[in-house]
Amino acid sequence: MAEKKLVLIGGGHSHILLLKKLGMKPIKGLNITLITPEPELVYTGMLPAAILGSYSFDQINIDLIKLSNFAKCRIIFEAVNKINLNKKEIYLDDRIPFGFDILSIDIGINYQLPNISGAEKFSIPVKPFSNFIHNWRKFVSNLTIKKNIIELSIVGAGAAGCELALCINHKIKSLGREPKIYLIDKKEIAGNLPAKAKNKILELLKENKIILRNNINISSIAKGKIHIEDSEIISSDLILSAAGGKPHNWLSETDLNLKNGFVSINQSLQSISHDFVFASGDCASIINFPTQKAGVFAVRAAPFLYQNIQNYVIKKTIKKVQSSEKIFTSINY
Ligand SMILES: Cc1cc2nc3c(=O)[nH]c(=O)nc-3n(C[C@H](O)[C@H](O)[C@H](O)COP(=O)(O)OP(=O)(O)OC[C@H]3O[C@@H](n4cnc5c(N)ncnc54)[C@H](O)[C@@H]3O)c2cc1C
Repeated sequence: MAEKKLVLIGGGHSHILLLKKLGMKPIKGLNITLITPEPELVYTGMLPAAILGSYSFDQINIDLIKLSNFAKCRIIFEAVNKINLNKKEIYLDDRIPFGFDILSIDIGINYQLPNISGAEKFSIPVKPFSNFIHNWRKFVSNLTIKKNIIELSIVGAGAAGCELALCINHKIKSLGREPKIYLIDKKEIAGNLPAKAKNKILELLKENKIILRNNINISSIAKGKIHIEDSEIISSDLILSAAGGKPHNWLSETDLNLKNGFVSINQSLQSISHDFVFASGDCASIINFPTQKAGVFAVRAAPFLYQNIQNYVIKKTIKKVQSSEKIFTSINY
């Protein structure tokens, strides 16, 4: 059987587990390449604990080079932003077009605040985590020479924003400073969580004196200042964005079928427009089966990704497999 080229775009949570599985149980006839901008992936669920100091930032990093070696996978450090699905080619800066037979996309989402003047320059998106961690560490090390009351704003009050507000609040206190943390959202605080979780989080935010500013619109962001539409100004030593969760723009320049910018996939994790393209994690949406964007789904997708890529390569009929939540399935031929 001729070797098939599998290219993994993005070293995300599905792909790290796919690589682990490929290392433990290689799929015959596959030549694998991972293209991702950075050599490490921050394990998302442990980030708050690292902010608190329970783990070092090193401890929450997953080494993509080691993992790729284990899976006998070549690794290229680049961000993909152009693919041609007809020609089955990926275009990377200063390289000849990179061919593939099967593609798997796991690139996460973008936390840059959209359409707010000054946001790109004066706020820090929580993703990529490596950039956020770099800025956070710099901020913490400068606290020694800063004022006593530390003002910090987090834009986006979903689960991630609420969690960040609480652990940053705790961290600043542990450094002997007084935190004044604003949690800002154009909608409700923790609005997308089930009622029980939402109430618990609201209770914790209140207990910790986090200042909640919901249902407000930001008009612009300047250095250390958030301008609200009603002309209020919120001063902040650091402005973080945990809002948005927008799909990466370059996906819309491909021929892939997208829904609201996310790759439309079936329960077998295959693009509904191109069966040789798999997608998983935050960048993809299962048609007729909406799930929240969360690392846990990216992780759960991995065994199905492995199984389905294997089935695709060997075109073998196998029994349908379903997860306990009946979200993902394996493909049959
Ligand atoms: C503060 C915070 C806490 C969170 N806590 C939890 C939690 O406790 N539990 C939970 O389930 N979820 C949590 N989440 C959500 C979780 O981070 C995401 O759902 C999860 O990371 C999605 O995984 P993914 O594989 O889709 O993408 P990611 O883990 O974001 O990985 C994407 C990968 O693709 C790479 N990449 C990006 N663009 C390109 C490109 N153009 N070309 C090539 N590679 C690219 C990136 O460098 C990265 O390696 C949290 C989020 C935040 C912000």
